[in-house]
Formats: sequence, C-alpha cells, structure tokens
Amino acid sequence: MPEHMFNQAALDFDRAHLWHPYTSMTKPLPVYPVASAKGVRIRLADGRELIDGMSSWWCAIHGYGHPALDAALMEQAKDMAHVMFGGFTHGPAVELGKRLVRMTPEPLQHVFFSDSGSVSVEVALKMALQYWQVAGRLAKHRLLTIRGGYHGDTFHAMSVCDPVTGMHSLFAASLPQQLFAPRPECHFDGEWNPSDLDPVAVLLSKYHDELAAVIVEPIVQGAGGMWFYHAEYLRGLHALCKKYGVLLIFDEIATGFGRTGRLFAAEHAGISPDIMCVGKALTGGYLTLAATLTTKEVANMLSSGNPGVFMHGPTFMANPLACRVGCASLDELERCGWQGRVKSIEAQLRRELEPARSMTGVRDVRVLGAIGVIEMEKPVDMATLQRFFVAEGVWIRPFNRLIYLMPPYVIEPVDLSRLTSAQLEAAAITAKA
Ligand code: PMP
Repeated sequence: MPEHMFNQAALDFDRAHLWHPYTSMTKPLPVYPVASAKGVRIRLADGRELIDGMSSWWCAIHGYGHPALDAALMEQAKDMAHVMFGGFTHGPAVELGKRLVRMTPEPLQHVFFSDSGSVSVEVALKMALQYWQVAGRLAKHRLLTIRGGYHGDTFHAMSVCDPVTGMHSLFAASLPQQLFAPRPECHFDGEWNPSDLDPVAVLLSKYHDELAAVIVEPIVQGAGGMWFYHAEYLRGLHALCKKYGVLLIFDEIATGFGRTGRLFAAEHAGISPDIMCVGKALTGGYLTLAATLTTKEVANMLSSGNPGVFMHGPTFMANPLACRVGCASLDELERCGWQGRVKSIEAQLRRELEPARSMTGVRDVRVLGAIGVIEMEKPVDMATLQRFFVAEGVWIRPFNRLIYLMPPYVIEPVDLSRLTSAQLEAAAITAKA
C-alpha cells in the first residue's frame, strides 16, 4: 500500500474494527502502522525506522525481504499458490518434507503439515491420544506437562499452557484437566540437582496408566516465562517416559532452527521425542506453516486398527507457497552459517546485558543462543515502554516481567548494541516507576 494511504482514517478503522493480539476492542494499546520492512529494519508509515529485536515473534530469522525467500515466493506463485493436499502432492511439500526428515533427529520420519503452531500442537496431541485408542489402552487419555509452558491458544494447547499465566481460569469449564509438574528449578547452565525430577517422577509413577503423553518445550520455555532449564531434566524426563510407557512430545515451535544455539533444543540433551512440533522460523517468518513429525512406530500405530487413518486434514495443509518459501528458508539457514551468527549474538548479549545484573529492580538476567532476557521484579508498563522503544528507534515488545530480545540472526553488532542499550534503559525505567 502506498504510504500516503495509511492516514488517520485507516488508523481509525483499525482501532474501531480490527482486533490485535491479546487486546481489548474498546481500550486497545496504540499500534504503529508499518509501511515496509527490509533486513532488520521495520519502516513505519511516517518514515521512522525501527531495529527489529523480536523477529516478528521469533520467526523472521533471516530478516525481512530476503532476496532468496522473495524469489522462492514469486517463482512458486507462477506455478500455483495453493492446491488441496487430499489426493494431490507437489514438489514444494516433498522438498520441505525431505529437509525436515534430514534435519530433525533420526527417529522422526513422518511429517504432518499444518497451518500454525497451535494446530501442529493439536495434531501432536491427537496423534498421542489416537495412538493409545488404537493400542486398546482407552484409559490413557490425559496429558502431563510442566508449569511455565506455552503451547498455543487453541483448546487442547491451552489446557497444557501454564495454569496461572495461561487462560485456565477463564475457560475452566470447557478445558480438559491435565496434570502439571512444577517448573524445573535447575537453570540451563547451573548445577544439576537430580531431585529436580522428583515431582514429575512421582506423577508419572502414579498416573502413567491414564497418561497418553508428556508435552514440553525442550530447554527453553518461551511465552510462559522465558525460562531456560537443565538438559539433565530433559534426559531424565525422556527416560521416565520410556520407563512408564508414555509418549513424549517436544514443542520446538519457538526453539527450532537454531534459536538456542543448536538446530533443535532437544540436541542439548542428545535425545529425540516420539512427536515434535515445528513452526515459526520454518518459513523464515514469511507465511504461516507448521509441521508435526513423528516416528515410524507412532505412524504405524495410527495407520492400523480402526479407523486406520490419522483423523486430521486442514484446508491449507502443505500450502505450496509456504512450503516453497520454507525450503528457501532452510537452505538459507544452512548457507548462512547460523551457528557462527547465533554464537556471536550470544556472546554479545552476555557481555552487554551483564550490567543489568546489578541494577535495582532486576530479578535475573539470562542468555541462551540468540535469546537475551532481563527479568524484572515487577511487571513492566507496556504502553510506556512501547512509546519509549519506538522513540529510541527499536522494536522490543516485553511481556509481564520480561524485557527480552530475539533478534534476526542477520543482525549486525552495532544494531544489536542499540537493542541492548534500549533494553537496559527500559529496565531502569521499569525499576523507577
Ligand atoms: N508453541 C510454542 C512454544 C510457541 O511459542 C507458540 C507461539 N508463540 C505456539 C506453540 C503457537 O504457535 P502459533 O502462534 O503459530 O499458533
């Protein structure tokens, strides 16, 4: 849209008619009209430029308007934007499937494409529930997770989000009741204490006959609190699931494709789940696409017995545009030397966020891969900080007590420094308020 078209009338329409994420229709926070985005810069309709610290909720890992991804999209549009996946297949789906099977842990061989992270979680949970139905273990229909998690906004995904920061109280009457172990206490790079696993071990030993699956975000809990936990916890949980015959689901939607310093966070623990969800960075932030991968064993079970098929099939399953841009994004990931980039972002974040440790009002500072978090003692004032960040020429969107960065992997050190200084200043503003 030409810039001049984004006038006050357009903003007024937006305010009167368009819902934004997690906002009120009557008292929304202000929104900023964006005209375009290129590299790590988001250009507002009034000409101001913001350095992107969020990768558009953690997906635009190569920055905006990447030539290879743009080209993939244009090329695919010439052939077809979409065609149903029931009864048809196509090159982009096969090519993306090949890359996912190759990049993810070896046991994961079967790919179910869907249209968003939340749907891929629903698919994973349905796989686990159907698995036990077909196996004749009808009592195994509950799920277990750890507190502090986030898995999406659809119903079963909500039921395994943190019961306090999630939406459990609002929808209590209609949400399935799941089992919750406490959040792991041992920090990713802290000392390991085996008793961290005791509560989840007790729950598994008591309820395994009712449990279909355990679902967790491996290593990094994202939207539930940006918490980084110990790899030994994940290894122990994996062993417990094997011992008690419960499927293990990893939600790698936020952590996948290099964000934590490994291609997938499960690699920190050297283990593979039975089912794994990926999304977000899968298309480099271009189009909405997710995938649920599983093992031969699970796929074979879902394909046997009654009904002998897996009961899911979204309209936009394996959308060719999304799959084609997904292939380009994964190729670019391999080409760009992401390990080196994420490593240097990590080192710079550690260095530049260190001073926050001694600031009043700061509870914790943590960095892993291309994620840098300042956790405050009290919740931030979103409206104030949003104005402050935009005035500083950066785009950072805190939530609750967390002021964090998840920049695109292509960010240059000078731009990252602008982000970290704004982050430190925001912590000071929050502490003073
Ligand atoms: N799982 C995790 C770990 C996520 O971070 C998110 C999104 N923040 C989701 C699931 C849901 O994905 P989507 O918003 O694409 O539905």
